[in-house]
Amino acid sequence: MTDLPQERRIVTAIPGPKSQELQARRLAAVAQGVGSVLPVFTARAGGGIVEDVDGNRLIDFGSGIAVTSVGASAEAVVRRASAQLADFTHTCFMVTPYEGYVEVAEALAELTPGEHAKKSALFNSGAEAVENAVKIARAYTKRQAVVVFDHGYHGRTNLTMALTAKNMPYKHGFGPFAPEVYRVPVAYGYRWPTGPQNAGPEAAAQAIDQISKQVGADNVAAIIIEPVLGEGGFIEPAKGFLPALSKFAADNGIVFVADEIQSGFCRTGQWFACEDEGIVPDLITTAKGIAGGLPLAAVTGRAEIMDAAHAGGLGGTYGGNPVACAGALGSIETMKALDLNARAKAIEATMKARLLAMADKFDVIGDVRGRGAMIAIELVKDRATKEPNPEATGALARACHQEGLLVLTCGTYGNVLRFLPPLVIGDDLLSEGLDIIEGALAAI
Ligand SMILES: *Cc1c(COP(=O)(O)O)cnc(C)c1O
Repeated sequence: MTDLPQERRIVTAIPGPKSQELQARRLAAVAQGVGSVLPVFTARAGGGIVEDVDGNRLIDFGSGIAVTSVGASAEAVVRRASAQLADFTHTCFMVTPYEGYVEVAEALAELTPGEHAKKSALFNSGAEAVENAVKIARAYTKRQAVVVFDHGYHGRTNLTMALTAKNMPYKHGFGPFAPEVYRVPVAYGYRWPTGPQNAGPEAAAQAIDQISKQVGADNVAAIIIEPVLGEGGFIEPAKGFLPALSKFAADNGIVFVADEIQSGFCRTGQWFACEDEGIVPDLITTAKGIAGGLPLAAVTGRAEIMDAAHAGGLGGTYGGNPVACAGALGSIETMKALDLNARAKAIEATMKARLLAMADKFDVIGDVRGRGAMIAIELVKDRATKEPNPEATGALARACHQEGLLVLTCGTYGNVLRFLPPLVIGDDLLSEGLDIIEGALAAI
């Protein structure tokens, strides 16, 4: 919304009366299993602002979970998607194809790491992309086992629940889960017993030992990892961990899959977070930030691996919907035009400086971490024991919400406050949001 004022404004209680009315209807009509972080109902959103139905304007540090990196109503996304809507909404790419899908696949081949020949297949959601990466890796390797990591998150469908580490709320009561999924340690620097400097090599050695001895490298189709873990707590695997796993995969004929669904598309200051350690994955899964809010996901990778699935073996009615593809082309156009990788790095510099200064003042902050505009603080009861503090995390989030700052929590222990501002957020809103966090830390 080009005319949506980029200013915080609180005119009612949060949530306000109209939101409360809608929430009552929602509770009667919508299944309770579908939650909401903050039940203020949205009227408009764009840039760094979400405006609710009561006229409150909240500063957005969530981007709809790392989706609206270009803003929730970016000009190029709206222009291209609107034009496509008027032309046609759907034919099904598997019935009669269209150019937008091919253009998105070409853009993905250009933007993802590595100079090899690449191909893509498009889907509707991140979970669907991850499931298809597994199908493709199994078809290519003729093996079955899939290796994933502690604190990993890959979605809510049956196979991706199996791949996801955390029980509540993602898996509890929803089993049985798919077989041939094996979980190994990740290099979580802050919580590694012998310290962050040892986490990379030690965790890699443990993971490789478990894969070799408990699964058998020859049985493994794919190793799937988020280059920066998202829902698990914005964990950056300690240096050396990703390269060691990537090399192990290459040496053993295992397909190395980077799940960049949350970390991709400029979020961490690179097109893809794995670039920071020079990793060239065999397959990359993308979604979230790819299409400026429209539902689109992709698997992109080495042409010979992508082509291992037989003709007709991949697809879906809506996969690569033309309006969503137009949105993706608008989103990529915006990322290039505004150099949003540079913008993400500038956001990191601002946020880290402020949050590290807050960590000096407030003992509850155990760790400040993340890259680009994917930044988090981990809250603890005691810096020495590092006992997680989910109560303070919830209280802090609620205090921010009351002041009109939309923030999200995450982490296996529910004790991480994460910040995912749209990359187009203005500097004023960014520093106002940080002021609110500082005020909330003082208040709790
Ligand atoms: C969100 C997410 C998914 C699942 O994406 P959906 O679109 O919600 O299905 C998978 N992997 C990662 C890393 C994610 O952050």
